[in-house]
Amino acid sequence: MQTSFTLAQLADPDVAEAEKILRACVHCGFCTATCPTYVLDGNELDSPRGRIYLIKDMLENDRPATAEVVLHVDRCLSCLACMTTCPSGVHYMHLVDHARAHIERTYRRPLTERVMRAMLAKLLPYPQRFRLVLGAARLGKPFAPLAQAIGLKRLAAMLRLSPWSRPQRPLAAQVFKAAGPRKIGRVGLLAGCVNDILAPQINAAAIRVLTRFGVEVVLPQGAGCCGSLVHHMGREHEALAQVRANIDAWTAIEGLDAIVITASGCGTTVKDYGFMLRTDSAYADRARKVASLTKDITEYLQALPIKPSQNADGLVVAYHSACALQHGQRITRQPKELLLKLGFAVKDVPEGHLCCGSAGTYNILQPDIARRLRERKVGTIERLRPDVIAAGNIGCMTQIAAGTRLPVVHTVELVDWATGGPCPPALREYRPRSAMRPSVTAG
Ligand code: SF4
Ligand code: SF4
Repeated sequence: MQTSFTLAQLADPDVAEAEKILRACVHCGFCTATCPTYVLDGNELDSPRGRIYLIKDMLENDRPATAEVVLHVDRCLSCLACMTTCPSGVHYMHLVDHARAHIERTYRRPLTERVMRAMLAKLLPYPQRFRLVLGAARLGKPFAPLAQAIGLKRLAAMLRLSPWSRPQRPLAAQVFKAAGPRKIGRVGLLAGCVNDILAPQINAAAIRVLTRFGVEVVLPQGAGCCGSLVHHMGREHEALAQVRANIDAWTAIEGLDAIVITASGCGTTVKDYGFMLRTDSAYADRARKVASLTKDITEYLQALPIKPSQNADGLVVAYHSACALQHGQRITRQPKELLLKLGFAVKDVPEGHLCCGSAGTYNILQPDIARRLRERKVGTIERLRPDVIAAGNIGCMTQIAAGTRLPVVHTVELVDWATGGPCPPALREYRPRSAMRPSVTAG
């Protein structure tokens, strides 16, 4: 695509990067076929190519974002399916991240929108605050239908997504020793913010599996939210402050083989730290180092000598491939191979490239599109008649669980269970067909 930025504009490294990305696009439109918002409504402006044109026009003319640009960029899930499909290697993620920051700087949203976004940005990334909010949301949860009926769709979405169970305390900084005589690795674990409060069983399972197979797990002091929640809202300063805090925390720990992450949305962002801080001379090297050490839990577990100690006995797992994992990190085989190796019967979900509608805060900020995507996703999953749904991201788990009665678990909870850990809570509470395997057998 031809561009017409001035030399003065290109002196800004962010604009120069955007220009490079725009020039790679040949407007072929292949990406439209896998874009969830285009698939739903067929509007070119809600396709990757349409958004790229809108962003190009805004940046080239160096003008404040218009309501039209904001509407269509806000509707983008950042699912990155377009990046998987694009034959020209267009780095849509960096382009839309830049566009979001430009929108945040130049566009004044209506008051209610500003309040909602500020609230999400000031609450979600902070586990203690988020825990208090969830406590209150539990009380309001029965009123979700009422909120929906009177037009408070975002509040209704928030209440529906909040769990019935009591929110947990975040994990404290500590070291979990490797079990057995031989330590074979040492990793940092990103406890996360939302992940740790909404579903503490995920990190607990990850820690049990890692230590069981000889890996020491460190939760460093000072690490927190990966920054993606605010990054995707265009709040760059807040995002970069969170990124720097994590880099300080992780690089203060000696001898880490990897930084392991159980929420794939966070993993995609942490793997991008090198890019995010490329112009910050105080952090650029360490940011690259942290990014290169980062691995999704299933990526890391694949290299360990994992053996089943209980028999999964063909329990049917519908594996939902989170967008951040399949499109953001290009991890597609590893989670399924792990589950197959442990004796689960894994079924791929048809239309697996399409987002479930979770996408960070998207299911709160765009509740209608998110609901339609969830209904479509749940429909395709339920037709498989699985015993359980597995995913590698808390956002997808929460989103899908809000639309089905089937149990939804994290992949690592199944890995833990099949290698000697407890039955995942979602499965304990739901006893279908064969009273749920695995049955305990000799190791
Ligand atoms: S597939 Fe790639 S090159 Fe083609 S229109 Fe989409 S982003 Fe541009
Ligand atoms: S990131 Fe997802 S929603 Fe956004 S343009 Fe690409 S495919 Fe469409």
